[in-house]
Amino acid sequence: MSERKPGFATQAIHAGAAPDPVTGSRVMPIHQTSSFVFNDADHAARLFGLQEFGNIYTRLTNPTVAALEARVAALEGGPAAVATASGHSAQHLVFHCLMEAGCEFAAARQLYGGSINQFVHSWKKYDWRVKWFDIDDPESLKAAVNPETRLVFVESVANPGGLVTDLDAVAAAAKAAGAPLVVDNTMASPYLCRPIEFGADVVIHSATKFLGGHGNSLGGVAVDAGTFDWGAHAAKYPTLTEPLSFYNGLDLFDTFGAIDLGGGPVNIALAIALRAFALRDIGPALSPFNAFMILTGIETLPLRMQRHVENAQAVAKWLEAHPKVAWVSHADLPGHRHHGRAQRYLPKGSGAVFTFGLKGGYEAANKVASSLKLFSMLANIGDTRSLVIHSASTTHRQLSDEQKIAAGALPEAVRLSVGLEDVADIIADLEQALALV
Ligand code: PLP
Repeated sequence: MSERKPGFATQAIHAGAAPDPVTGSRVMPIHQTSSFVFNDADHAARLFGLQEFGNIYTRLTNPTVAALEARVAALEGGPAAVATASGHSAQHLVFHCLMEAGCEFAAARQLYGGSINQFVHSWKKYDWRVKWFDIDDPESLKAAVNPETRLVFVESVANPGGLVTDLDAVAAAAKAAGAPLVVDNTMASPYLCRPIEFGADVVIHSATKFLGGHGNSLGGVAVDAGTFDWGAHAAKYPTLTEPLSFYNGLDLFDTFGAIDLGGGPVNIALAIALRAFALRDIGPALSPFNAFMILTGIETLPLRMQRHVENAQAVAKWLEAHPKVAWVSHADLPGHRHHGRAQRYLPKGSGAVFTFGLKGGYEAANKVASSLKLFSMLANIGDTRSLVIHSASTTHRQLSDEQKIAAGALPEAVRLSVGLEDVADIIADLEQALALV
């Protein structure tokens, strides 16, 4: 390839992988091995001491997984990424590296229900304390973020509501507080939104969704944007800035905060911490097979996202005109309150997952969700197939009524993940289900 920087679609196919130098295999092989042979004892010692990068054991690194990490990092525009067994475990590792017991972080109320559960219940065990804010209420953001804040967490497009976060506003608040902005970009994918360009310091994906894209493999990725100066806030981030006894007193930010991997100095201190500390000790490694499946999925990400958006926009428009539908929450509709944000952060479209409300309320929403035939009723998004769920009774079920409403999981709402089938067939299915209420 020439010196020019390859475009997004080219990177989606080529970044992180090349023909195998030993076998000539064109597609990245599945390195289905738990461990790797060392050249000699010195080589092993250097790898264990982080003095040289290489493969030791698949819980830490694996060539197939590394190809996925490099590809997602390239697509998001960060210098390094770490892949994990699921989106949830990627979140866990990021929090593990940045939080200490008794410390606080700020999070948007408009999140995937599983993340709200994680923050409220599991994080309580670690004494990681959440302060919530509303993505439509600047005062609540101001109240939640302060110099004690260790990180600010948002979704670029919030699940389930088809809502768009004002990334400029949260990035400014995080910056003023000296805290990194962590953005879950699952719903948009890097094809529709690149949060690092709007101030994100860490980008997280449930690769289970649009990255893999076929509903067949769980996976997660955390991308280190390399933008946060951990040293300037050393007291808040001891994992990154204090000598680590288990690595012979190595200071991660000192060692990896401006390392030249061939293209000039980059800050990959957080990525190293995620792998060499959090993944090492907590252990949610991605299987090479799932990495292979997700890599293959990413090759068609641009094409799939274009069609997902086209279909979702047509369905949202059709629903908006339907007499039994009370409201449609898709930010590409000109009347949506986040339409301006969508145009700024997601100019190619704000995705395929959105909710609509039935005039008939909870009963009607359940009836429609249960009566669709082409749509599958299940707890996932980002598949080639069209998917439906009634969030209030499923993905957001464990939340209080107040939390459900704040997250956009209203009783009358049906969530769609519009797939890649013929849009006429998708609309015909909705039409027959709506006729039953
Ligand atoms: N983030 C979002 C926006 C999600 O929708 C999900 C799962 O639905 C997750 C994170 C968690 O990902 P995973 O199921 O891969 O752990």
